[in-house]
Amino acid sequence: MNTIRVQEARDKILGEIQFKGVERVPLGQALGRVLAEDVVATLNNPPMDNSAMDGYAVIARDIQSASPDHPVKLKVVGEVAAGYATRDTLQSGQAMRIMTGAPIPRGADAVLMQEDARKDGDVVLCLDRADVAENIRRAGEDVKVGDEIIKRGTPLRPAHIGMLAVTGRSQIAVGQRPTVAVLSTGDEVLELDATPQGPQIFNSNGHMLAAQIQSAGGVPVYVGIARDNEKDLMEKFAWALQADIVVSSGGVSVGDYDLVKSSLQKMGQDMLFWKVAMKPGKPLAFGRIGATPVFGLPGNPVSSFVSFEQFVRPSLRKALGCSDLSRKTVQAKLTRTIRKKPGRLHFLSCVVSWDDGGYTVTPAGEQGSGILKSAADANGLLVFPLDAEEIKQGQSATVQLLD
Ligand code: AMP
Ligand code: MG
Repeated sequence: MNTIRVQEARDKILGEIQFKGVERVPLGQALGRVLAEDVVATLNNPPMDNSAMDGYAVIARDIQSASPDHPVKLKVVGEVAAGYATRDTLQSGQAMRIMTGAPIPRGADAVLMQEDARKDGDVVLCLDRADVAENIRRAGEDVKVGDEIIKRGTPLRPAHIGMLAVTGRSQIAVGQRPTVAVLSTGDEVLELDATPQGPQIFNSNGHMLAAQIQSAGGVPVYVGIARDNEKDLMEKFAWALQADIVVSSGGVSVGDYDLVKSSLQKMGQDMLFWKVAMKPGKPLAFGRIGATPVFGLPGNPVSSFVSFEQFVRPSLRKALGCSDLSRKTVQAKLTRTIRKKPGRLHFLSCVVSWDDGGYTVTPAGEQGSGILKSAADANGLLVFPLDAEEIKQGQSATVQLLD
């Protein structure tokens, strides 16, 4: 197995991943999906000049001298509510009662808010002046016809859903979600409904990977557990190949029963096996069987978790059509000194927080490849570069944000 850097492995893998395709979904199902079209406004929002306040539509010049001690009296000639328009044109000396969102009547150029006015029969006493355009929201001030409002490749958040509704879109093109088969391996690994005896452990990787797939936007397909023999492995992999992408955990290392490599090699044309210069998560298998990308992740739970983050998640984002494949990173100041040997890039489960105008970061407990608790306590992965040996307390490190 040759040793390869994280970035190189990632680039090689991403080069093999294709966009799955487009589907149309109702807006109510679009949250979290990746937009597969550039969305352009077909309407102005708001459609016309309208009032930002409940109050009185006025001509600013008429009330330029108004104050609480010297109110200006205007005649109230009508009313306009949201959803209605008036044909009347305001003349000098007149005001019109107006509600928030109602169109500004012709002739008016400002809205005096209700709190600065006192109604008295069919007149209103204006207790303050108003500037031209005050409390008026302009037609198209949010978006104008032809404006590009959301770019293809954007994962849709709630405000995007609002923007799509603003322009009346009830159906939207999004990336199809790839199905991802999850296959665990190991004679010691048990389904959750079994009773562990002696050295047996539950299939935590299978469930964690399914959750990682789901949170990356894919559709997990739980295949179960293959025993440590080539026959069972090949059978289960063959079944898993019905999915768009296959992810397995365990059996890729150098032990006597690490048979994923030999099984995949027997099944596939182009399987690659690497030692990636990273910790946790050194062994990694990747390649295609037929047209299907297959990832053989290491079995240690934190290795499996971190390898998914670095290699599978960006691949799923690419298949979904995301423009941004990586997690956001921040620079954060270490709260204590960390050390390691050079030669591998380390990912440390860590807790990052915002403090005094900057991010700080603290490794979350023990960092062993079997210490899943630290990953569960973490909201980030600290990137400790390959050749670095020490990052001192108070120095900055790059952190990938997990949420
Ligand atoms: P392997 O890569 O198969 O040698 O596994 C490395 C370590 O990860 C061993 O201690 C396994 O018991 C453990 N392991 C493998 N698969 C799983 C799994 N699905 N869930 C939890 N632990 C696992
Ligand atoms: Mg194993």
